[in-house]
Parts: sequence; C-alpha cells; structure tokens
Amino acid sequence: MDLELSEEQAAVRALARDFTDREITPQVIAWDRAESVDRAIVKKLGAVGFLGLTIDERYGGSGGDHLAYCLVTEELGRGDSSVRGIVSVSLGLVAKSIAHWGSEEQKQAWLPRLTSGEAVGCFGLTEPGTGSDAANLTTRAVRDGDGYAITGSKMFITNGTWADVVLLFARTGGPGHKGVSAFLVPTDTPGLTRREIHGKLGLRGQATAELVFDGVRVPASALLAPEGKGFSVAMSALAKGRMSVAAGCVGIAQACLEAAVAYAGQREQFGAPIAGRQLVQELLADIAVDVDAARLLTWRVADHIDRGLPFATESSTAKLYASEAAVRCANNALQVFGGYGYIDEYPAGKLLRDARVMTLYEGTSQIQKLLIGRALTGVSAF
Ligand code: FAD
Repeated sequence: MDLELSEEQAAVRALARDFTDREITPQVIAWDRAESVDRAIVKKLGAVGFLGLTIDERYGGSGGDHLAYCLVTEELGRGDSSVRGIVSVSLGLVAKSIAHWGSEEQKQAWLPRLTSGEAVGCFGLTEPGTGSDAANLTTRAVRDGDGYAITGSKMFITNGTWADVVLLFARTGGPGHKGVSAFLVPTDTPGLTRREIHGKLGLRGQATAELVFDGVRVPASALLAPEGKGFSVAMSALAKGRMSVAAGCVGIAQACLEAAVAYAGQREQFGAPIAGRQLVQELLADIAVDVDAARLLTWRVADHIDRGLPFATESSTAKLYASEAAVRCANNALQVFGGYGYIDEYPAGKLLRDARVMTLYEGTSQIQKLLIGRALTGVSAF
C-alpha cells in the first residue's frame, strides 16, 4: 500500500480543509446550541462536489476514489460531526446504494439531485423494536395492485426531517433477512409523517427523526434491487458506511490533537506551559497514537475498496477502533483543557459528546466485535 497521497487526493484534502475552516468551524458552537446546522450548508457541500464523491459524472457525481472520500469525510468530521453525518448518510448510504443497485430510471431521478444538494437522502433501517437485530424488522410492504402499501415506523433516522427521499427497508416476505426489500420513498408521499427527536447528547446540529408509515402507497418502480434483496442492500451500504464513520472519527481525533497541543502550549501552571509536564505529554501522545492507528485502519478499507478486494471485516475493524479511539481522544483532550474543557466555548466537550454515538450507530461496538469474531471463526455468535 502506497501511503503517499496522489496529487489529486492531496488537492481534494486541501479543498476540504479550507472548506471546513471557512464554512463550518466558525459556526460550530452556534449550531450546537441552536440544535440545528444552517441548512444552506447542504447546497454548499453539493457545489464543491463533496456530495458526489465516487459517483459517476454522468449522474452529477464528482468522481474520485474512496481514499478521497475518506479524506473529505475526515476533514468534515474535524469540523463538525453533524455536517459530516449529513454527507455520510445522503451520499454514503443513500446515493451510493442507488448508484450500485438502482435502475437507470432511479439513477436519473435521484442522483443528480442528491449529489448537487438539491435533495437530501435518509436511511430507514432501525425501528423502535429492532436495532442491532435489523433482520427482524417489522415494517411491512404489502402488494397493493400495481404497487405496495407500507405500514410501520423507523427510529433514529439521520436527516429524517430534512430528507426528500427515504431508502426504506420493509418486510415483503417471511421472517428473517430474506423477507426484506428496499424501497425509495419520496418523503412527500401521503401517509408518511415525521417527528424530530430532540435532547440528543451529541450530533445536536443534525436532524434525527422518527418516521411513521401509515399505508404509504408506492409504485413497484420504487423497489430498489429485486424483492427480497433488501437486506443485502442494507448490509452492503453499511459495510462502506462504516468506513465513512471511521473517517469521521479520525477527524474528531485529529481535532482533539490539534486543540489539545495548542492549549497545552499556551496554558501556564506552576510558572510554565503545561506542555512541558510529562503527564500532559502522556495525554497528548496517547491521542497522537490513536489518530495514526485509526487513520491507517481507515485508509486500508479505502485501499481495499478501490482495488476491488474484500473489505467488510476491515471496515468493521476500522469502525470499532476509530470510534472507541475518538471517545478516548476527546476524553484525553478534555483532561488537557481542565475545567475549560467542561464548557462549550472550548471544543473538547462537544467532541466528546459527538464521538460517543460513533460506538453506537451503524452497528454498536459489540456488533462489530461479533462481525469480526464470525469472520475469524466461521461461527455466528449474535
Ligand atoms: P440495541 O440493539 O437494543 O442494543 C442495546 C445494547 O445491547 C447495545 O449495547 C448492543 O451492543 C447490545 N447488543 C445487542 N445485541 C447484542 C448481541 N447479540 N450480543 C451482544 N450485545 C448485543 N438507524 C438507521 O437506520 N438510520 C439512521 O440514519 C440512524 N441514525 C442514527 C443516529 C443517531 C444519533 C442514533 C443514536 C442512532 C441512529 N440509528 C440509525 C440507529 C442505530 O443504528 C441504532 O441505535 C443501533 O444500531 C443500535 O440499536 P438500538 O439502539 O436498538 O440498540
């Protein structure tokens, strides 16, 4: 593996760093306090090409490889995980699934809108009663004339109240994963209601919602991939999605490193900067090692995808390590800031709140360990 970035990758990273410093970082405290990022950010992300990475230019995408996607995700995550999550879901889970599984008609209908930021996508898998055990979801799509009628509810859906389209997973057949199908449901379809979930520990700028489907009618053309293939759509989206979460965690860890080193250099106690104290250097060194390890594991996933190699277990490994590392790094950074780390004028507290959810969504840390354990032993311990 070549760890040098190509000229194109370095340019994309510089663009993302500059975009983050200009458009995101100055707003972060206000967005967090207001519990909403400024929605104008979506069009700006589209205009600069960050919502079309890895998508074919024929559909409005901006091309690029998966390492470039990781570099952008890391930079956005360094700025604000709420903004990073909008991209990871609308592009990473929804647009990429349409690009991979969609018919020509579905690609034409949705990809140019999603990649430009004119439309936002959300990913509807989790339900109030089924989280980790997603294969047992209960939302039903019943054949109704030439289409389907969908009934059920979805919980914790990122971008939920902002989205124009839901990539929805519903049961069309018997129990288990083989009975699950995927649908593209426009959010203005009658019978679909959305309720924003407030009071989140972190990712406060992001719209997270419960979606309720009450006899929502969609045509058969809303089916993404053949009937019964929905669980494969979900799992393939999440395998790549975990790389994107991991890259976002690297961004959090990098932000912790930069903030903690800068603060330690200027904060004086006992007549000298705290940067000169061995126990403070231990905190900084622990953060730096976590940043490097998480980044290398994440880049390995991108390298495998770009070279057409298997990547699902590598992606679980990167997501598990990077999410736990982001929490450790934010906690260590908060310690370097002392009491100032505990108030939101300084970055460490928000980084810790935002990091915490990374060990929960797109498969908890326990679920990643079970995926890795199954790959190692051939035995499912779920
Ligand atoms: P549960 O599955 O009930 O798990 C509870 C605990 O039990 C966890 O510690 C878990 O690790 C453990 N556990 C469960 N099964 C096992 C087992 N077999 N062995 C050992 N331990 C086990 N979902 C979407 O579909 N789309 C989204 O956009 C989305 N965005 C989200 C945004 C936020 C802010 C949050 C908080 C969640 C989001 N989710 C989304 C849902 C998320 O993916 C789920 O919360 C997650 O999968 C865990 O499910 P659960 O919360 O039901 O926990």
